[in-house]
Amino acid sequence: MAVCLFCQEENPSGLTNCKQCGMALPKEQEKRKQKGIARFVWFVILLALFCAAMIVWLPRTPPVAG
Ligand SMILES: [Zn+2]
Repeated sequence: MAVCLFCQEENPSGLTNCKQCGMALPKEQEKRKQKGIARFVWFVILLALFCAAMIVWLPRTPPVAG
């Protein structure tokens, strides 16, 4: 059973949208959110690896004195 966030209507599990107001039920939203977060985490990890590789790979220019 999923309770609608907007009208507090109790909907039977299996429905993706509220039977009273038609808004998406929280269960489906959470699933979508978690997928998005997982994708975002992978993006950050890949970006960090890329930055680390660039820091190691790129030649370091010595500071110019004077
Ligand atoms: Zn509703």
